[in-house]
Amino acid sequence: MTDGIVDATSPLVEDFLSGDTRRVMHAVWEVFATRDPAVLAPLERAVVAIDRATEDLELGGMLASNGLHLDHALDRIRLFGQRRCLCAAYLSHQFYDVEKEERRQHVRVVGTVPNPRQWVPDRVCECLDCGRRFQVEQGEYHYPWWDWTDLGPGTAPT
Ligand SMILES: [Zn+2]
Repeated sequence: MTDGIVDATSPLVEDFLSGDTRRVMHAVWEVFATRDPAVLAPLERAVVAIDRATEDLELGGMLASNGLHLDHALDRIRLFGQRRCLCAAYLSHQFYDVEKEERRQHVRVVGTVPNPRQWVPDRVCECLDCGRRFQVEQGEYHYPWWDWTDLGPGTAPT
């Protein structure tokens, strides 16, 4: 890829390259929420430029560093580039809310497991794209978090 050539038709690419903290963080949360190839493909083509444009940005963050969220958004774009299922991203970030992921039709909840340490039971989720299953512990420490554990490929025949 030629340096400096990016797809100007993607508003999220423009946000990432804007140098404006608020626009960059808006784009970060959009990437967290999507598996749509139409959204992710232009970002993947621009990922080197995005990485460079954002590396010196001071993003701040109250409870968890926005820089870490940005790094994770870039990881997510790279997972897409490797043609890996985006459920692989759950293992490396604690802000994947089970209910939001269910509403986005990325996973479905197929069961629960009692968890005496928490006020909600763990949930067993199945990725709607690849069938992989995860057990998700939900907890709260200053802010809610979700800890996704890989249970392996789904057992249901397809
Ligand atoms: Zn998956």
